[in-house]
Amino acid sequence: MSPLPVWIVCGGCGTMLQRVSQSVDADAFRDVRGDRGLRIGIPRALMFYRYYPFLKAFLESYGCNVQPSPPTNLEILGEGTDICVDDVCVAVKVLFGHVSQLAHKVDAILIPRLVSVEKRGYDTFTCPKLIAAPDMIRYSFPHLPPPLEFTVDISNAPWWWGCVRLVRRLDLPLRGIARPYMTAVREQERYEGMLRSGLLPSDALKRMYNGNGVPRPAYISEGDVIVAVVGHPYLLGDPIVNKRLIHWLDASGAKVLGSTMLSQEDLEREEPSLPPLSWSYERELLAASSSFMKRKDVDGMIYLTSFGCGPDSLVTEMVRRELKPAGDQVLMEMVLDEHSAESGVRTRAEAFVDMLRHRKKMRSNTGGVG
Ligand code: SF4
Repeated sequence: MSPLPVWIVCGGCGTMLQRVSQSVDADAFRDVRGDRGLRIGIPRALMFYRYYPFLKAFLESYGCNVQPSPPTNLEILGEGTDICVDDVCVAVKVLFGHVSQLAHKVDAILIPRLVSVEKRGYDTFTCPKLIAAPDMIRYSFPHLPPPLEFTVDISNAPWWWGCVRLVRRLDLPLRGIARPYMTAVREQERYEGMLRSGLLPSDALKRMYNGNGVPRPAYISEGDVIVAVVGHPYLLGDPIVNKRLIHWLDASGAKVLGSTMLSQEDLEREEPSLPPLSWSYERELLAASSSFMKRKDVDGMIYLTSFGCGPDSLVTEMVRRELKPAGDQVLMEMVLDEHSAESGVRTRAEAFVDMLRHRKKMRSNTGGVG
């Protein structure tokens, strides 16, 4: 089998230094594959909240047994924090905790490597941590086999090429790959349709795999104030990381709109008014902020970010300085880390909703002035 290219990434700044070739040890997977199929673990962190339905459907179409790690709990968060270096974001620490949960329970752990996810007139990338995630796991868990990579680098090859590389790595037949691929695309579309309906990633996934019997969450029903929450899907979708922010907003009587509900068309509409930004996912957040700020029905917006996140530290400033609210929305930043306490998030959420409610009442009493 021909060698596949991998990136070498600087451990300090995450910059990609050079491309080298790595031999693929497909025999490793041939040996462990039994009648039950290859057990592939997918950590419930980072890109799980974007692409799990696609990856699960694709691998299951090939007879693999896909096992996600359990929902994040305090033990997983603590374990990830212990294993991981200090100065990365909480989202990456959670990834480490989930890998630790899957260790020795599956034949391979799949870690996406997202280098670039779209083609524009200029170079685009994702965050360096997302590009280097397989390397961080590989060198931090030397006792485990190297992670199985799903590489997306749209600036060099189309999305489906990542699937071809995955299939080759697993020594599965390439012939007939179109069918698993189309099944996976359909599952991903179904998931994204649920996100568009207002469900947050974790609730959309619950509904996909546990059926329509799962009750519709209260945060998407009416509230007397509307709060938009902008943040990466792995922050919005993990209640242990966001300290149940969505629950506390909902319990305070607010309707919650997550940035994950905006479609690609909604985000593209904002593009002409935004500065060019090479980080695709951060540009998405900037566009989402711009979109919500133009909506007169949105009373306030919370920008959710993790401590130590380089891209977000810049984008938060851009949201604050460059976006002008069309209405009178209030912006609150909320920075999360592994030490954030649920009581602190609850207090801020309740106070924010109370303030928005009071403000709305005062404005309606004074005819919208003041
Ligand atoms: S974008 Fe920020 S929060 Fe996400 S992985 Fe990168 S550093 Fe962490």
